[in-house]
Amino acid sequence: MQLLKDKIISDGIVKAGGVLKVDSFLNHQIDIPLYNEMGKEFARLFKGQEITKILTIEASGIGIACIAAQYFNVPVVFAKKMQSKNLDGEIYTSQVHSFTHGKDYTIRVSKKFISKADRVLIIDDFLANGKALIGLINILEQAGATLVGAGIAIEKGFQEGGRALREQGINIQSLAIIKEMDENKIVFKD
Ligand code: 5GP
Repeated sequence: MQLLKDKIISDGIVKAGGVLKVDSFLNHQIDIPLYNEMGKEFARLFKGQEITKILTIEASGIGIACIAAQYFNVPVVFAKKMQSKNLDGEIYTSQVHSFTHGKDYTIRVSKKFISKADRVLIIDDFLANGKALIGLINILEQAGATLVGAGIAIEKGFQEGGRALREQGINIQSLAIIKEMDENKIVFKD
């Protein structure tokens, strides 16, 4: 998606350790017209797939998922990272290793909100090693729900997640795939 690529080039900052900082438009301050265009693009890419729910993970996925959901007309469910007294009843849990924080955490989704009748699109801001996606897919497997695919804003194609998950047959659509990046340049796959 050219608009997103242009924004990454103009406002993205490459940090040490292969981290792309996009907090001026994607995951701290949010560019709403850009989010809207991303939502429309996800709707175009997954058109006709009879999606019943969008699943994402807090915190950065929530905004993207909510704006996109308006174009699918379905609810958004987000996996919680924090244990909370409000998260009562039965829950699905899965372990995720965080790329940006370098530690493991548990994600939780109430069994009330995902069932085997659901056809689910996962949406997230980044795909790096694929651990967040694997954790969300694991929750869908526990629920017996159907995974339609994953819509990702920025995929770091030089990390292994996208290739490994596509090899498993998962339909991953990324709006911008970075082939390589360093402090001086960011190169997209196409
Ligand atoms: P993965 O689980 O695929 O290794 O990493 C995906 C998660 O890590 C995303 O949900 C995102 O929050 C975070 N992440 C991975 N790489 C980056 C990055 O380069 N920049 C930022 N801002 N977040 C990242």
